[in-house]
Amino acid sequence: MSRGPSTSGSVLVVEDDALLRRVIQYTLADAGFEVALAGDGVAALKIIEEGRHFDLIVSDINMPRMSGFELRKHLLDSRQSALTPFIFLSARNSPEDQVQGLSSRVDDYVTKPFEPVVLLARVQAVLERRRVLDTAARTDPLTGLLNRRALEEEIERSLLRLGRHDEQGCMVFLDIDHFKLINDQWGHSAGDEVLRRLATLLSRSTREVDVVGRYGGEEFLLYLEDSAPDGAMDKLQRMQRDFGELRVDGIDRVLSFSAGVAVAPVHGSNFEQLCRRADEAMYQAKQDGRQCVRIWDETNS
Ligand code: GH3
Ligand code: MG
Ligand code: MG
Ligand code: MG
Repeated sequence: MSRGPSTSGSVLVVEDDALLRRVIQYTLADAGFEVALAGDGVAALKIIEEGRHFDLIVSDINMPRMSGFELRKHLLDSRQSALTPFIFLSARNSPEDQVQGLSSRVDDYVTKPFEPVVLLARVQAVLERRRVLDTAARTDPLTGLLNRRALEEEIERSLLRLGRHDEQGCMVFLDIDHFKLINDQWGHSAGDEVLRRLATLLSRSTREVDVVGRYGGEEFLLYLEDSAPDGAMDKLQRMQRDFGELRVDGIDRVLSFSAGVAVAPVHGSNFEQLCRRADEAMYQAKQDGRQCVRIWDETNS
């Protein structure tokens, strides 16, 4: 049987019947999954405690040493695996068994005997639903940009890469000027449209490796990877010009923002510190009359 590339994710299969384990292994591997195997709950927990990450766990219930129910209970109590998608696969098909299984917050309960293609379809459905939910949890609904939580995760990741290379990165805190006035004068939906248009402008003006998101309200955060302050300043001046040229919903006022820049690793090496300093520099830009960009220095704090 040919095995495709492992592009679909990783699955831990917990099943004491060796033949069935093989059938499931081949079915999933053929569909591109990376598959790990365990013969019972104890073996499964050992693999998980070694720190391996799985996108999904498929587990039998009746097994020696530790049953699927017990395994599920352990996982729900663990911080690391409580949210990992989980499917029971069992010959126990009485209504009571199924109700008990489903009550332990599993994503599906498949009874034996089963058709391998149907198990595969259920695995894919569970993972697809999870992907949609994960994306929604990371996205700001108004602008489609990363939300605050996802921003922090992505920037932390980018900063880790920075630590391994000898380069600089720029954290930018950007806040629209007199945005309240826009809402008051042209209405909240015009304000929303300004936010969406600025989001598009920021995405288009940055590279794939940069991180762009909505921090909250009319505040945006950018992390420009492998970028020196001069380059970041040029880029922000261009964004300022383009933002000023936007025509939105009859708003006859030049749109502008104030921005602050903190440079990694010179001004900080973790998200929290860089974000605070970029915010302080942005506040300086507001004090200097708005519609400008400032780079953090000691006098800002
Ligand atoms: P400054 O130049 O000092 O930044 O002034 P500002 O008016 O931009 O700042 P302020 O903090 O006073 O007001 C921000 C406004 O942004 C207030 C709030 O109602 C509005 N706002 C926050 N989130 C949204 C949103 O999702 N849509 C709209 N339309 N307005 C929002
Ligand atoms: Mg069994
Ligand atoms: Mg603000
Ligand atoms: Mg503002």
